Amino acid sequence: MNKPTVLSGIRPTGYLHLGNYFGAVQNFIRMQDDFNCFFFIADIHSLTTHPTPENLQSGVKQVLAEYLACGIDPEKATIFIQSDVPEISELYAFLNMNAYLGELERTTSFKDKARQQPDNVNAGLLTYPVLMAADILIHKADFVPVGKDQEQNLEMARKFAKRFNRIYKKEIFPIPRPYTFGGGDMIKVPGLDGSGKMGKSEGNAINLYEEPKSIRKKVMRAVTDSGPTEMNQQKPEAIENLFTLMDIVSTPDTVAHFDGLYNKCEIRYGDLKKLLAEDIIAYTSPIRERIIEILEDDTYLAKVAKMGAEKARESAVKTLQEVKDVIGFRKLF
Ligand code: AMP
Repeated sequence: MNKPTVLSGIRPTGYLHLGNYFGAVQNFIRMQDDFNCFFFIADIHSLTTHPTPENLQSGVKQVLAEYLACGIDPEKATIFIQSDVPEISELYAFLNMNAYLGELERTTSFKDKARQQPDNVNAGLLTYPVLMAADILIHKADFVPVGKDQEQNLEMARKFAKRFNRIYKKEIFPIPRPYTFGGGDMIKVPGLDGSGKMGKSEGNAINLYEEPKSIRKKVMRAVTDSGPTEMNQQKPEAIENLFTLMDIVSTPDTVAHFDGLYNKCEIRYGDLKKLLAEDIIAYTSPIRERIIEILEDDTYLAKVAKMGAEKARESAVKTLQEVKDVIGFRKLF
């Protein structure tokens, strides 16, 4: 029996952070044995923020090395760079013809980005969900493991797939579904600034590549408050966020210990932060060491990218041909 197809990607706009790791990459690793996996580096998506050629190149290399260091095996999963597969851009153009201004303007991620970069509200930002749909649909992905922040964009991809199938009266695209390993809720890893998610552009992230010294500094500076004043009181968001991070990286005993202290109004945030920092370091240190090693091996990185591009194109060319046939492009002359 054919394995279901999975696709997901990350933009090369910096280092992978704990949000990327626990929201996405950890699931990739767990899925690579049982699914036909495509994991890519979304370099075209990253152009919405206008990187310099040098930053783009080093960002792509960094994510590639980080994927490998985290444990994605290029023999099991297809790891590729988005711009190596031109069929994606072609499908993006076709899907754009049936994507409407109103629905694109209404997406939360567009509204957020337009707020974050008011001087650069480009058409790429507006049609970001269309490109994401092309990424997914070009491989006819059944499942997309993403974090909670991508839920709405994935919903758009489902909408575009259904619309295309309906317009052309053919089930060309399977309708992609979100996926979390173990069937739990989609994860949202909080940042260290008291509210919201951890993100590259939010400046509140801890990277996998981060040195232990810098992790300690960032965690110790995380936003807290003056402490609980009543027994068993509800935690404000900043404190809840620290507990969420601890839930992710620490043992249940550690979480229960600090939860107990909080409920008795005996918590010392400094102690919690010290432990949290060490638990994060225990996670990231081995990955960081592997990243450093892999980054030195350009030959290996080039080999992985080439192999991935070949496998990804094989799948993409097939889908694109079907799409062009059904749209009505014919060789007449
Ligand atoms: P990005 O860094 O925006 O390119 O996101 C790449 C992947 O990481 C997507 O699957 C996101 O859903 C996931 N991701 C990014 N930030 C977080 C976060 N704070 N919590 C959970 N998942 C995240």
